[in-house]
Amino acid sequence: MALRLLILGPPGAGKGTQALKIAREHGVPKISTGDMLRDAVTSGSPLGALVKETVAQGQLVSDDVIVALVRERLTESDAADGFVLDGFPRTVVQAEALDVLLDGAPLAVVEIRVPDDELVRRVRGRRICERCGTTVSAFDGDPSLALVCKMCGGRLVQRSDDSEQVVRDRLKIYWRETQPMIGFYEGRPTFRRVDGAQPPVSVYEAIAAAVAEMNGKRMGLR
Ligand SMILES: [Zn+2]
Repeated sequence: MALRLLILGPPGAGKGTQALKIAREHGVPKISTGDMLRDAVTSGSPLGALVKETVAQGQLVSDDVIVALVRERLTESDAADGFVLDGFPRTVVQAEALDVLLDGAPLAVVEIRVPDDELVRRVRGRRICERCGTTVSAFDGDPSLALVCKMCGGRLVQRSDDSEQVVRDRLKIYWRETQPMIGFYEGRPTFRRVDGAQPPVSVYEAIAAAVAEMNGKRMGLR
């Protein structure tokens, strides 16, 4: 069953994993901006060369280039029956451009909403093994016991980019970028919000139920 879906959610909400799972379930590709930029650079296309040059100069790839890449990607045969977007659009300008690309085809939008404090709590409990790099969530068990890696016996430490301040700064940027885009979509009949503070399996069920409900209302998502 085909599907055109955009999943929104803060860093740490598990958005990429959920997007991949629902894309596989519906037999459509997951299209992420990161993958697309990497593919463009290795493809050696004129657009890819431009992306490579921009990144090499330490500059941000412009909305125009991102939109052109998405336009190219959406015309590939595997996306004919739909796709799940992850990381695009990121701004209202990009969202407006996506509407133009879709040319009237309906887009389901699901926002995974997680309170900032919950995301901070998750990250605070995450540890990485100094020796083998295995990542562990201390909340899997008793946090006071999660000091030694079960795989190799190495010491579990907090990752340097997992400090509370780094996470709060990242979330501040997310909300500044994304809040206007949520405003752009949330009045539409094809917008749903799911509770992302639940376990990942329940989040997935909520996304799948939202998609099924929108399909049931014959919104033409198929
Ligand atoms: Zn280890």
